[in-house]
Amino acid sequence: MYKVKDSGKNHYTIYNESMDNESQLTIENSLRKAIEREEFELHYQPQFMLEKGQLIGMEALLRWNTASQGYVPPSDFIPIAEETGLILPIGEWVLREACKQSVVWEKQGFARIRIAVNISSLQFQQSDFIDSVAKILAETEAKATCIELEITESVAIGFIENTISKLSKLKEMGFHIAMDDFGTGYSSLQYMSKLPIDRIKIDRSFISLLNTSNKNDTIVKLIVMMAKGLNFKVIAEGVETENQKAFLKSIDCDEVQGYLMSRPLKLEDCNRFLTETEGRVQLPTVLI
Ligand code: C2E
Ligand code: MG
Ligand code: MG
Ligand code: MG
Repeated sequence: MYKVKDSGKNHYTIYNESMDNESQLTIENSLRKAIEREEFELHYQPQFMLEKGQLIGMEALLRWNTASQGYVPPSDFIPIAEETGLILPIGEWVLREACKQSVVWEKQGFARIRIAVNISSLQFQQSDFIDSVAKILAETEAKATCIELEITESVAIGFIENTISKLSKLKEMGFHIAMDDFGTGYSSLQYMSKLPIDRIKIDRSFISLLNTSNKNDTIVKLIVMMAKGLNFKVIAEGVETENQKAFLKSIDCDEVQGYLMSRPLKLEDCNRFLTETEGRVQLPTVLI
């Protein structure tokens, strides 16, 4: 299914077309060694309240820095990690790293930064998911209230009761829960009213079309209305222009994340951002 093509010095692309066993194996083998070789990093993208500009959190985004190819984007390796099950140890690494960072920021006085962590469906569906999360919390001494777990619509398909009970347990532990890429999956409106979640993230594909199509604008408006009616916070991802931001403000969207405000930042840049903006951008006073 995947094919690797060398497309320059720093960079390769994986095509989803014909299966090339050898290439798939090469990536798989390097992925397998990536944790012990310490090739993974988390970058952090700030999220803001739209009205006040207040920082509300950071999304942790996985980066694979390979010795031979440089940074390989998540879209190129996460599908393979999911297909091979390697997303399980990788996902644990991501959560552990985010928890550790949360403790560090708290010690540095940035106590109320919530870190959002992407959880793959395969990971969420493991029967020991809750145990593994609890173990990581205990190990790192992080506070669950400082972590948001981002799940996608696909986790709920077919196992709605199971999903609800798992999410409820996670919420009891203190985690925040966000539904990522909202609008691109198969959410039934019926289960949206039942899922114990805190936040909906409107997928970037809707945001990039804002102000270009009335139909698209209507859908975004309706997602915001639905979220508010169901008592969820709503965040727009992939906000790139002032016009998009103005539209989102006009329809009362709560929060924004995107290149307009900030790209995902390496840890050192993120720390600089936190230090420099303290005082200018208001840091969170409460966990929202
Ligand atoms: P996502 O969770 O929806 O993350 C948002 C993606 O949009 C990120 O891409 C981010 O860099 C990008 N983005 C943010 N603002 C803008 C913008 O204004 N314009 C544009 N064009 N893009 C923007 P990234 O980092 O390449 O990650 C892609 C996807 O890979 C993520 O989508 C998520 O599904 C997955 N991913 C990333 N890290 C992890 C991880 O630790 N675990 C798992 N399971 N999946 C991850
Ligand atoms: Mg996400
Ligand atoms: Mg998303
Ligand atoms: Mg996603």
